[in-house]
Amino acid sequence: MLTIGEYTLQTLDVQCFSLDGGSVFGVYPRVLWEKIITPDHLNRIRLSMRILLVRGKGRNILVDAAMGTAWSDKVKKIYDLSEWRLDEELQNAGLECRDITDVIFTHLHFDHVAGAFEEKDGRLVSVFPNARFHVQKDNYETALRPNAMEKSSYLLPFIDAFGKSGSMELVDGCVELLPGFEMVPLGQGHTAGHQLVKITGDDTTLVHGGDLIPSSAHLAVTRGLAFDVAPLELIRDKVALLNDLLEKRWLLYFAHDPFIKAATVRQDKKHVVVDKVVDV
Ligand SMILES: [Zn+2]
Repeated sequence: MLTIGEYTLQTLDVQCFSLDGGSVFGVYPRVLWEKIITPDHLNRIRLSMRILLVRGKGRNILVDAAMGTAWSDKVKKIYDLSEWRLDEELQNAGLECRDITDVIFTHLHFDHVAGAFEEKDGRLVSVFPNARFHVQKDNYETALRPNAMEKSSYLLPFIDAFGKSGSMELVDGCVELLPGFEMVPLGQGHTAGHQLVKITGDDTTLVHGGDLIPSSAHLAVTRGLAFDVAPLELIRDKVALLNDLLEKRWLLYFAHDPFIKAATVRQDKKHVVVDKVVDV
């Protein structure tokens, strides 16, 4: 647990999945990335899908919602999807799903949005009956009409459920949800309308890295996901964020890192690397 200003931050370790190592590291070759992380016999890398719980100002806010349970056996097998521990993790934090007031979606790729829904009587319904769902307008519009490359990441049943949930709040640009709690949009690098979350207190700032910097292995500027739609634009955003992290000693939260939840960073000979690991 971490306190920043009036907010308490806590990780909900709800689920893990495995992605093909090639798609996790893009053009970075396996002979190099396998020194950082060992793939399984199907060339997959085990990754976390953490939810960040932020409490303060009378609100219980989640950042992203992982994959959840509404998946076929085939999909579970492809991604080696772990059990879903949302209820247990919330219970450990003294909360239930109905206590969640807001869910901030960095973007609506299925591994960030699907866990907000469960299947009931053949329909996808929200698991957070009292929450408002915040997403950038650009991202929602892109998800409704995905390009050929992202069709398999924006899964229409979930996007449809999102739109019909009655909970949707479309955000346009940089918005302060609460004092010291901002939603900050990026360029089109990973996908259109991707946003980060920035939480600022008197002497600490934490940025949720979304899929801009999903793990500590992606601190290196040219190590991006194969899913990034505009790699050069992503690099511009990453360099800008890394400069702030280095100069201002901000903390970075990793949603997908298998081991590290958050850290400060430092400049090494070649790359920016993890400096001090922080438990959140
Ligand atoms: Zn994504």
